[in-house]
Amino acid sequence: MIAENLQILRNRIEEICEKVNRDPKSVKLIAVSKGFSIDEIKQAIHADQIEFGENKAQELVAKFEVFGNQVIWHFIGHLQRNKVKYAVRTADYIHSVDSLSLAEEIQKRAENLGKTKKILIEVKTSEEETKSGVTEKEEIKRIARYCSQASNLSLIGLMTIAPLTEDKNLIRKSFSYLRKLKEELNTEGYELKELSMGMTSDYEIAIEEGATMLRIGSAIFGERIYYKED
Ligand SMILES: *Cc1c(COP(=O)(O)O)cnc(C)c1O
Repeated sequence: MIAENLQILRNRIEEICEKVNRDPKSVKLIAVSKGFSIDEIKQAIHADQIEFGENKAQELVAKFEVFGNQVIWHFIGHLQRNKVKYAVRTADYIHSVDSLSLAEEIQKRAENLGKTKKILIEVKTSEEETKSGVTEKEEIKRIARYCSQASNLSLIGLMTIAPLTEDKNLIRKSFSYLRKLKEELNTEGYELKELSMGMTSDYEIAIEEGATMLRIGSAIFGERIYYKED
């Protein structure tokens, strides 16, 4: 089932890329395995999936104990300061940097481990109350400036979660805002390459708007029966 879902999804991603004249290789699929089991991850690995996303530090650590660096791990959830050490030890990428103090803590922990962490700044691109991320452009730039000078951080892009709505225009607006923000930062000297955007319900629009990293869970693993956010 998981292998089949992955195949369908990969085909669909390729189709959309063709439609909008993008190289399918420029769109990376991250399988969001939060709430799913070791066995389900194994099935995905068997189907040649190598990048996985988790949104809770403890759950990531538990899965890291099993798979280690056989898998490339992306931390995509809200990260509390006291959990940074776990995320830094296990995740190759942290998508959800939403404050300067979080960036500073990641830098400190990464330096202690002698590692460089690939990070993305999470931007709030919709009015929705529940969505996390940084809103103020000045704050985003402040974090970007810090990250580009920090010895153990590599700022590679921006991440967002689109609003939960049937209104495709609102979703598109959210993604295109992120793309334009990345372009703006790059005209100011940054070299951001990644746009982490698009989930099961909206990845097609995300690809059309330039996503380079899709974070997709339920289209691969099925519906999460019950999942509590942090
Ligand atoms: C759960 C989650 C996803 C994946 O959501 P699906 O709808 O299952 O594809 C993507 N990004 C973040 C930040 C998530 O928490």
